[in-house]
Amino acid sequence: MSFLKKFTETAVYNAYSRAISIDFTIGKIYFFQPKLIDIIESFWGITIEQMMIENRENTIELESCITELIQKNIMFISNKKDVFPDIIYNELSYSEIENIHIIFKNSKFKNLEIIVDCIDLFKIKASKFNFKNCNKLEIVEIIQVFTHSKLESIECVFDYILNEIDSFFLEELISINGAITSMKFANLPENFQFENILHVDLLSEDIHYPKFTTSFNLFTESQKFNTYLNKKLFIGENEEIKNALESDKIFGYLDKLDSIDDLKEIIKSSQFQKFWNISKDLIDICKDCEFRHICVDNRIPHQRLQGGYYQINECNFNPYITKWINEEGYQSLQECGVISNEKGFSIDHEKIAKINALLWDEEEVEAE
Ligand code: SF4
Repeated sequence: MSFLKKFTETAVYNAYSRAISIDFTIGKIYFFQPKLIDIIESFWGITIEQMMIENRENTIELESCITELIQKNIMFISNKKDVFPDIIYNELSYSEIENIHIIFKNSKFKNLEIIVDCIDLFKIKASKFNFKNCNKLEIVEIIQVFTHSKLESIECVFDYILNEIDSFFLEELISINGAITSMKFANLPENFQFENILHVDLLSEDIHYPKFTTSFNLFTESQKFNTYLNKKLFIGENEEIKNALESDKIFGYLDKLDSIDDLKEIIKSSQFQKFWNISKDLIDICKDCEFRHICVDNRIPHQRLQGGYYQINECNFNPYITKWINEEGYQSLQECGVISNEKGFSIDHEKIAKINALLWDEEEVEAE
């Protein structure tokens, strides 16, 4: 008696063009034919022998599917039925705000103490600090304020030229605040390296979206929430309070608040949280994309009057033909007959099928 089992730490799901599996233990993704998802589901709880009897006319195809699933480390054969239960996507975070992003124009923020109180109150663990027009002394003063906060990670973003950064200064910052986990730089000369700084990530600032992360926590969050906008608090260079850098709406100014209670009221409001639950499964185009559960996308979704969500700007990836904008054969959504705007959402399936036949059949022939 043998069962086809899926590894617990592997997630599989379907998209418009192909299915995907994500192995969280090694952070790898594999693509496969959508029909294999049905096979995985049909094997749930029944033996391989039973399956073969029930599908006598398709045993050769079934065997080749099983081989592919095993080769791609998605499934394995076990003689036990009740091993490796499927993933349970419980919400993993108990923080009310997960991430705070602050742009410091100088150290003249009047109400930094409110931010520290807010970090403690909402149990914020992760932060991103952009230092804009700050001199070294001002950066040190700001970092010092957060030394005893509950932050577990601080991602610092400096302007290499404006902030006059050198490795001694970076060492000093790390010694002041052990929560600094990464330092990113705008305007960093090409191939430049800081000497002796080994204990934090030192990277050029990467501002390109979408970004992919094969993290189980992100995958779990993506089931019900927007992975970029959920539980985010943004404080801009004029102390404006927003729910994301990219959002237009300002909910108040830090220097005008009387106490932490004012900030609490803003964060608890439904308007402030209005993007949190808009997962990619609810946004047209993204809902058909194989990357929707590993993707962080900083575009703000828009709601149609008649329901449904859309994005104004197209993503660099077209999930209907599985091509990136810089790849040969790429065509825009519009060129493929996919329309998503304030008026509605429609897909010309026939047109896409023709484009895919031309794109992929030709590539297969070329590869042979
Ligand atoms: S369409 Fe783009 S933004 Fe949407 S899930 Fe796919 S890669 Fe991410």
